Amino acid sequence: MKKLRRRVFIKTASAAVAAVSTGMLVSCNNQKETKTISINLGKTYEWKMVTSWPPRFPILGEYAGKIAEWIDKASSGRMKIHVYGGGELVPALEVFDSVSFGVAEMGHSVAYYWAGKAPAAQFFASVPFGMNAREMNAWLYFGGGLELWRELYADFNLYPFPSGNTGSQMGGWFNKEITTIKDLRGLKIRMPGLGGKVITKAGATSVLSPGGELYTNLERGVIDALEWIGPYHDYLMGFHKIAKYYYFPGWHEPGSTLELMVNKDAYEELPDDLKTIIKAAAEASNTLILSAFDAKNTEYYLKMQYEENVNFRKFPDEVIKSLKFFSEQVINEIVAKDEMSRKAYESYTAFKKKINGWFDISERNYI
Ligand code: CA
Repeated sequence: MKKLRRRVFIKTASAAVAAVSTGMLVSCNNQKETKTISINLGKTYEWKMVTSWPPRFPILGEYAGKIAEWIDKASSGRMKIHVYGGGELVPALEVFDSVSFGVAEMGHSVAYYWAGKAPAAQFFASVPFGMNAREMNAWLYFGGGLELWRELYADFNLYPFPSGNTGSQMGGWFNKEITTIKDLRGLKIRMPGLGGKVITKAGATSVLSPGGELYTNLERGVIDALEWIGPYHDYLMGFHKIAKYYYFPGWHEPGSTLELMVNKDAYEELPDDLKTIIKAAAEASNTLILSAFDAKNTEYYLKMQYEENVNFRKFPDEVIKSLKFFSEQVINEIVAKDEMSRKAYESYTAFKKKINGWFDISERNYI
């Protein structure tokens, strides 16, 4: 192949100046058969990737950087992607619009942030009492989920890929024990998204605090409780130093799918090999990010348990039952108002029912 490439290069070098930008068809003899292959000699791409993560944020920011690195290497340097942390080029929560309008060609984020623009987007990230990471992947890749996600994002000139999952998150840090659903009444809890709407129905107040202010807000009592991610990221934030109880399970985020979104016009202009490289990089990140979360959460769960003596508490069944009841109300309200949400919900729920049955006899019994 090297030889072939050099031959093609020498043959076309003088004409390359005119041809490089449009790509060209090259006929070549490959031993027995003659093939016509398309080679975009010399055409390079410099793209920007904006993310919703602080610069170099553990796992998420790291893997946004790795995606860019893989694409660079796999394309032999034909595609360079400059990665920006949230706020470096555009604010963290403007990733969707920035990629949609082409300010950047790529974005790494999580779809529930865009609920205000496209309520159905939440089904492609995580919904309370929804599917876990493995179930989400099965639905997205093989159950029609990704097609629906692409249909939704096409209206915004975006092309999404699943690009990681946090796994089941934790229920959050509390200074008060939660023994009945009434204990949530009057609490100011940092819990964004649908989970925030659910706890509001239980009489709590959902407060939106940026990540950087969470520690001081909890310490000073501006908020009474908070949820963040899981043992690894929560440990790095130091919440175990200022909160009494660490509750589980993370009923509100059973497995949040992350996304790599590409500006659709920019994506469609790419030659097939670069499209495939981006797809493969997204798929690699989808596996590795989940594995990194699983490995790091295990390590830091043990650290919290044995070095920090963190008080782990399980939400009582009665509390979980009530939260599930309120979650169904919240989701039904969204589905009633938005046609695309209804479509996503129907596909999601039908798949969830089926796979829950299978996982119940296989995974749950095994565990
Ligand atoms: Ca969370």
